[in-house]
Amino acid sequence: MSSSRSFSSKRTKFKVREKSHMERTMDKSRIWTPLDFSKDGKWVDWLRLPYSSDILAYGWIPIPLVCIKNGEGPTALLLAGSHGDEYEGQIALLNLARRLDVADVRGRVVIIPALNSPAVLRGTRVSPLDHGNLNRCFPGSAHGTPTEMIAQYVSSVLFPMSDIVLDLHSGGRSLDYVCSALIHQNDDADEFRQMIELLRVFGAPISFVTNGEGGGGNTTLAASAEKAGVRIITAELGGGSTLCHSGLKVAEEGVCRVLKHFGITPRLNTKDPKATRFMKDPGKDYFVYALNDGIFEPLAEVGQEVRADQIAGRIHMLDGPTKKPIEIYFPKSGKVVCRRHPALTSCGDCLFNLMIDVEGWS
Ligand SMILES: [Zn+2]
Repeated sequence: MSSSRSFSSKRTKFKVREKSHMERTMDKSRIWTPLDFSKDGKWVDWLRLPYSSDILAYGWIPIPLVCIKNGEGPTALLLAGSHGDEYEGQIALLNLARRLDVADVRGRVVIIPALNSPAVLRGTRVSPLDHGNLNRCFPGSAHGTPTEMIAQYVSSVLFPMSDIVLDLHSGGRSLDYVCSALIHQNDDADEFRQMIELLRVFGAPISFVTNGEGGGGNTTLAASAEKAGVRIITAELGGGSTLCHSGLKVAEEGVCRVLKHFGITPRLNTKDPKATRFMKDPGKDYFVYALNDGIFEPLAEVGQEVRADQIAGRIHMLDGPTKKPIEIYFPKSGKVVCRRHPALTSCGDCLFNLMIDVEGWS
């Protein structure tokens, strides 16, 4: 819905029509690239994010971009660095960008290994320019903050040209994650079956279905892709703002298998996927949050199976050396898929997330 407001100068009354959120995202993106996505060949350039500052009046911020196209065929959009402090996906895509040649491809592969490049360069989850969390501001805005402009470019330019999107994440500075791939619940039974099959092809040790309740809801890149009718797999590949080698391997092998599955890289040598364990994220009841400030002492490992009422950890108080630590218990039984990485914690921090098995899919 549009709304309007008015203001007056000395002589004239101006009426200003305010655009709806949908209209703003449909605006022509201000990000641009001289790279021609429709041209056959292997092309390396940048997305150019307009940015004006004290020392950069008419400048742009580079976002590295690789496009490999060979004739007609499906398009895969491969993304990492939505959060700057998650490294497995970034390295996997840099390795793939060097490895893939035009002759390997039937169709098109678009690789963006550092999607929120200001955050990647700073090694932070959110952008240092606007504190924007790229995976919480979709579908974005063409005239918004730098982070919103990136989201808008992805949703309005890249999604419409894509048949499959892989968005590679990990836990970043604040979380350690099991190596996993995830999709959202889908009401269309056929599409959902195809997505389950894709999770098998990707072959992460754990695959899960989420309703997004504990994370970004409708503001994520994945939610926006699904709204646009584009198939997407998100991966969580480690955490702690360091490199998990097993996560890197899962990313590299999984991406190549999905490309081959779509017929985009028919000649690529790939290993068969290992069996994945299908789980689901039942929602907020399966999260454990800190209710106090202090030092978090975890008492369960990532990947561990835990029982309801089992002790999860303690929070040691900083404001009273003789105060008894607060004990925290798991509210449900399940598998620990992520755990807070830093010890220092505050009320509201996510300490654990549990998942449970899904019957009948393996
Ligand atoms: Zn992330």
